[in-house]
Amino acid sequence: MFVFFQRHCRACNKSGEPENLEVFDLSLPITNANETQTALDIFFGNTELDDAVCSMCNKVGFLEEKHRLPEAPSVVVIHLKRFVFDRQKVHSQKDDKNVRFKMDIDLEPYALSPDKEEVSFEFI
Ligand SMILES: [Zn+2]
Repeated sequence: MFVFFQRHCRACNKSGEPENLEVFDLSLPITNANETQTALDIFFGNTELDDAVCSMCNKVGFLEEKHRLPEAPSVVVIHLKRFVFDRQKVHSQKDDKNVRFKMDIDLEPYALSPDKEEVSFEFI
């Protein structure tokens, strides 16, 4: 499946070239999510890249990236990111909390063109 990816700098208000990246799964952060739909909201929301340098203005800490689905994939594999790297302890820790999987997953809010196609899936 493909995921649309684009970075934007809040300092110079410029956007990088949009790309469609081929991925095998949606790797969802669960640190602030207890269910898959919330994890999808976080994944497809604007992510701030604290340490990234803008290639257009060279400022640090103003980049954000967004992800969208450019087309409805026939199969979606969801991977929960249970390991989070702790910079102070310099190792990864596993988050063992329960994450609820809904039987129906609505991906339409994350489509690049939300009104053009049906993008919902049934959990199997
Ligand atoms: Zn910039």
